[in-house]
Amino acid sequence: MSRCTQALIYKDNLEYNIKQIKNSVGKNVKVCLAVKADAYGHDAILTSQLAEKNGIDFLAVATIDEGIELREAGIKLPILLLSLCVPDEFEEIFKNNITPLVFSKEYINLLIKASESFFSDETKFSVHLAVDTGMGRIGCYPQDAGEEAKLINNSKNLILSGMCTHFAVSDSLSQENQEYTKNQYNKFMQAIQSVKNEGFDPGICHCACSAAFLNNKDMHFDMIRAGIITYGYYPDEITAEYLQKNNKNFNVKPIMALKTKIVSIRHFNKGQFVSYGRTWQCTKETNIAVLPIGYADGLLRRFSPGLNVTINGKDYPIVGRICMDQCMVDIGLNNSEVALWDDVYIFGPKDCGANNSAQTLAQIGNTISYEVCTSISKRVKRIIV
Ligand SMILES: *Cc1c(COP(=O)(O)O)cnc(C)c1O
Repeated sequence: MSRCTQALIYKDNLEYNIKQIKNSVGKNVKVCLAVKADAYGHDAILTSQLAEKNGIDFLAVATIDEGIELREAGIKLPILLLSLCVPDEFEEIFKNNITPLVFSKEYINLLIKASESFFSDETKFSVHLAVDTGMGRIGCYPQDAGEEAKLINNSKNLILSGMCTHFAVSDSLSQENQEYTKNQYNKFMQAIQSVKNEGFDPGICHCACSAAFLNNKDMHFDMIRAGIITYGYYPDEITAEYLQKNNKNFNVKPIMALKTKIVSIRHFNKGQFVSYGRTWQCTKETNIAVLPIGYADGLLRRFSPGLNVTINGKDYPIVGRICMDQCMVDIGLNNSEVALWDDVYIFGPKDCGANNSAQTLAQIGNTISYEVCTSISKRVKRIIV
């Protein structure tokens, strides 16, 4: 029997979301699921297996190791590597057939060299050219795209099979930010055109993350890259309510529930303190439940004060500081609805027993659902249900 602090992964919800995404793009638009960071904490292997089963076209990871993990699990789908690596890792890219994003001449030249020592034949290995149109992270400048394409395609073993860019503010509804996104899109179009002007096929062109997938249907191009939406949460201002109001019929369900159990109930008198720093003091006699979950599990310190947990359908506040491995909850005096060993839900999908979603926690912790989910650490076993 494993530890009672667990992350339940609702497989049916995951499959539902994948189908929703797949059904919301045009017939000729491919779907890439971002399964980086262990599928935003939701189990990359399970997500990738369901992706394969449901006709998804691509997976995206951030590190070589994440790609290798999927290959070792037998995943056959093309895998995009969204972040850069160092030349020492290049061999693993070829060995595991992972498609890297490239953009700088130096990087491309080193990759060409590595490809020529790896392949003894005429193998053409796919790379995607990243273009920085305003994200300010990775990518070549739009005006350099043609040149980069030439470098790639004139090599013996590399071939340009895709082009991409990434939006900085597509999850915002302000007019200024929507215009910025449109401008990024236009620059991306120019980069693609300059590659075509050099006589090259740009391959699969992609730019839409979850937000642009939901809100900019005209920007789906050849492929979308869906991350957070796969896991049941909406990107910032592109909320479920907004979509409903604008007649965009799309909904997804959260997949992960974080739960634990009460391992002790202790009686406290008025004036007693709870946890480090003595930040919380009993204003009256009460009972305090101890939970075996803390910030090392991903229950971030900044969630207290503010966060309630759900026990048998009712909410109770975490009091005092969240410790590394434990935290305390005020359940009140003579509470017949709460008993030792009862289940405690931190967050999860509707009807699983939790009243909070990861989005609620994000609001309390002044962060985003992405960070709440990816913070759930390795120590918390994922249990597929
Ligand atoms: C993570 C990532 C995505 C997915 O973003 P979501 O907002 O989660 O949909 C798409 N593209 C790139 C380049 C990414 O790094």
